[in-house]
Amino acid sequence: MAGGPRLVCPLCRTLVIDGTEPLPGACPGCGARYAGGAADAPGAVAAALAWWGLGGLDADRVSGGLFRILPGDPLNSSVTVTSDRRDGFYRWWVFVAAAATPADVLARAAEYAP
Ligand SMILES: [Zn+2]
Repeated sequence: MAGGPRLVCPLCRTLVIDGTEPLPGACPGCGARYAGGAADAPGAVAAALAWWGLGGLDADRVSGGLFRILPGDPLNSSVTVTSDRRDGFYRWWVFVAAAATPADVLARAAEYAP
């Protein structure tokens, strides 16, 4: 039996989406904002940057930086990427903590890019 997409908040582990197609929104558990929804992480970052009106940031640099933020880094609790779960494939989403500003934390993430 096939279930619909499931998206779990990477910041608080609340089940955000269960069985419906995710749209950009906010986590009901911690209020983190999320956007993206592309088949790969750079695409999801590009979609999230567009959603938040941050066209001045380079999606590839932000994406590359996000994957270099170590779990113990304080920035990791403010911005992170995750994938949803669905049959046979998944889509990527960018989560920004409720207390953080997407423009700020995504610009800081880009600084981690090689
Ligand atoms: Zn959450």
